Amino acid sequence: RLDCALVIVAAGVAPSVAFLEETPVHVAKGVLVDERMETSVPGIFAAGDVAEAPDLFTGAHLVAAIQPNAADQARIAATNMARGPAARDTKLNGVLAINVLDTLGLISSSFGQWWGEKPEAGGSGVELVDEARYRYLSLQFKGDVLIGATSIGLTQHVGALRGLIHGQVKLGDWKDRLLANPLGFVDAYVARSQQPMALAR
Ligand SMILES: Cc1cc2nc3c(=O)[nH]c(=O)nc-3n(C[C@H](O)[C@H](O)[C@H](O)COP(=O)(O)OP(=O)(O)OC[C@H]3O[C@@H](n4cnc5c(N)ncnc54)[C@H](O)[C@@H]3O)c2cc1C
Repeated sequence: RLDCALVIVAAGVAPSVAFLEETPVHVAKGVLVDERMETSVPGIFAAGDVAEAPDLFTGAHLVAAIQPNAADQARIAATNMARGPAARDTKLNGVLAINVLDTLGLISSSFGQWWGEKPEAGGSGVELVDEARYRYLSLQFKGDVLIGATSIGLTQHVGALRGLIHGQVKLGDWKDRLLANPLGFVDAYVARSQQPMALAR
């Protein structure tokens, strides 16, 4: 028995894969798939919470059990299923780990490689701590690419963090601006990823 004010259950997701035990479909935590969402058995595909697909940055296989990943993976799997074996060339741009949590009204989120990269491998980062307003933001870079982020108390436009990280957007001189002002990530997203598209239209 533990006296406590709050219990948070963080059990994760355990795919139900026991039925594959005696089959040639390779399973680790989930069903192992390549970037085309194909299992170890050609012509058999898996997607969503049950699948363990390559991570965007590390390439290590990962169960990333959230709806946007399930939808992305399902689209890739379905496209490849509909094609003949020689033409199954639609690939996932890597799984992006994302968590968005509402804890008694305090919104927190994490994206990608939120723990950062070693400096000798090109990693750098910046933290903004605003205790008075219950706000926190950590941005982690590799070279001039944002590879991970953690936020607390930010509810506006955190999707721009996902866009920068998943798109592996080259920030150029915007990286130094973000090191000086991490909250400028929306401006960085618009400037570095949306503007060329807008101009092209
Ligand atoms: C409580 C909760 C809250 C969540 N909140 C969020 C959130 O806020 N944001 C977010 O992005 N994601 C959230 N998720 C995760 C999201 O729901 C899943 O990532 C998404 O539903 C995965 O889709 P899927 O198609 O892979 O699996 P599922 O949606 O689980 O669909 C699998 C289907 O297969 C069926 N099935 C299972 N076994 C068999 C079988 N042997 N034969 C036939 N059918 C079978 C199941 O009944 C189910 O209908 C949440 C999940 C839970 C449980």
